[in-house]
Parts: sequence; C-alpha cells; structure tokens
Amino acid sequence: MKMYLDLLRFVESNNKKLFCIYCGTETYVLNNIGICSNCENIISLPSSVLIKQDPEAVSKISAINEKLSNQNITETDFEEAIKIYDELIAKKNNLGYLYAKALLLIKYSNYLINQINYNKQGFMDENSELNEKSIKLVSDSKLLLYKIISTCNANINSNINSFNEIYLMFLANIKLNNFKAAQSSLNLIKNFNEIFILEYSQLIFNIAIKNYENATNNAKNLLMHDNFSINALFYYSFVLFNKKEFKQSKNILQQLQKYIKNDNIKNLIQDIAIKQNL
Ligand SMILES: [Zn+2]
Repeated sequence: MKMYLDLLRFVESNNKKLFCIYCGTETYVLNNIGICSNCENIISLPSSVLIKQDPEAVSKISAINEKLSNQNITETDFEEAIKIYDELIAKKNNLGYLYAKALLLIKYSNYLINQINYNKQGFMDENSELNEKSIKLVSDSKLLLYKIISTCNANINSNINSFNEIYLMFLANIKLNNFKAAQSSLNLIKNFNEIFILEYSQLIFNIAIKNYENATNNAKNLLMHDNFSINALFYYSFVLFNKKEFKQSKNILQQLQKYIKNDNIKNLIQDIAIKQNL
C-alpha cells in the first residue's frame, strides 16, 4: 500500500492537471487522458488550452464549480448552478453536461435531506416541503440519465455515436442500477481500443455488482497504467473497506482528501469511524 501512496506523491510532483469542462474540477494525471475525480467524465486537456478553445464554457463551468465549492453552500448556490448547466445544455450538443447536471441534482437532493435532519425540531410543513423537493430532484436526475441512454442508443442506430457517449451511457446505467444494460454498454466499450477507460469501467462495474476480488485487480491494473487515475485509489480504499480492512482504507482516504474534493471520501471516512467504534 505504501507503494500507492508513493505513487500519489509522484503524480503530484509531476504536476500535470487536466481540467474537466463538465464540472470545473482539475485532476492530477500522468499522461494526456484522465478521468475527472469529481464527475468521472473523460478529460484530455488542461485549462490553459481549454480557455483558448472555449472561453465561455470555461468561465461558466468555473462559476458553477465556485458555487458548489462554497463551504456554506445554500439552496441559491444550487439553483444558480443548475441554471448555468441549463444554459450550457441548451447551447452544446454534449451529453457530458447532462451527466454532470444529473450528479448535481443528486447532490442537491442529499443536501436537502441533510437540512431535514438538522431541522428536526422545525415545522412539519417545512420538512415535508424539503422532502418533496428532494424526491423531485432525484426523479429529474433519473430523467437526465435516461435521456443520455436514449440519445446514445439513437446515435448507435444511426452509427454516429462517439466513444465518450458510450462510456456515459455505461455510467448512466450504473447510476440507475441497470446492471444488465450496463453490461451491454461495457461490451460496446470493448469494441474500442481504449484499454484505460475499459479497465476503469470494469472497475466501476465490479464495484457495483460487489465483485470485490475482480475490482481489486482492476484497481491494481489501473494504478500500474501509464494513465494514472486517482479515482482508482478511491475505489481501492472502498474495496478495502468492504473487506473490513479499515485501517488501510482510512490511510489511503486521508491522503486522497488532499486531491479529491467531494463528499464520497468524507462519508467513507465517517463510515470507517462508525465500524471501528462498533
Ligand atoms: Zn468533472
């Protein structure tokens, strides 16, 4: 495991980051392709290049990222971020934005559910309003995921789909717990010569179906690959957690906190603390 933490430090010293045009996150990579550590879209360009190619999208997505990084995030931040995504979706013919927005809606829904927990003493009306809104957000998110799948399928029928689209269709199926359809998307991914993304997709699939032995192998292969994925380390610690190797899992997560800014790591560290105190 020490090897993986050394690898992490090496990646940082290499100081190569790619910018995700779909969510505004920058992710450490070793080569010219990576996976966003936040929304898992495929990324291939640094911000310095993207800002010349598409300054408007970079500025809009940076504005979203800023709102969502707010430590004291409010409903207004979420609403404004959603509005900007809608502008981008209307302008760009790109399923990556749909997927990032679907994830945002789930995050927003979780945020509202937490508000209910905090407001237990509050008025019932207020709580049921929050509850209804969070349910609506999840169903809107699902609609977006289904739209990704149907658009991708339509494009497959007219033979105009891209590799990115098929990968997104796979992610959408996983999010919807459609494992059979996810398996079919995975088979489509195999038709392309994209070993790194294929291994990553297999890792996600094996985690989803709780095949932790195969997932461990996928994570290890990814960590040996020229195209390093920081997410592979997160999934590896998730597998360790499920194998009840809490100490090792926590060790990796504590290092990862420096590089990945999302709730998954924080939540998993909390889960470990609960298990360790049992
Ligand atoms: Zn992203």
